[in-house]
Amino acid sequence: MIKYDYLNTEVLLVTGIIYVFLALSIAKLGTYKTCGGWRAFVVSFILTPIVGIIYVSLCPVKSILKIIHYRCNHCGLEYTTEHKYCPSCLKEGNKYKLQRISMKTY
Ligand SMILES: [Zn+2]
Repeated sequence: MIKYDYLNTEVLLVTGIIYVFLALSIAKLGTYKTCGGWRAFVVSFILTPIVGIIYVSLCPVKSILKIIHYRCNHCGLEYTTEHKYCPSCLKEGNKYKLQRISMKTY
């Protein structure tokens, strides 16, 4: 009976380590999501990693804003909308094409 209890403790310990490891792995996944790593860890630790992985997968990915600018190399003005030619320079009768610049921000 004592031997059986000892085995049980060992199994529990191993399960515990796997449990924490799983929760940490989900937390790592969570860092790429809007919920964040810490919240993902807490959810998977308290509500089991199964719930945690569902929670993380339902969370939207951290929005990577792709900003596209259109810059005129002639006057230096930047536009957020696409134009065939620079509207500012077009008023002066000059046709300058806008340069497309894209940036990524978190
Ligand atoms: Zn211009």
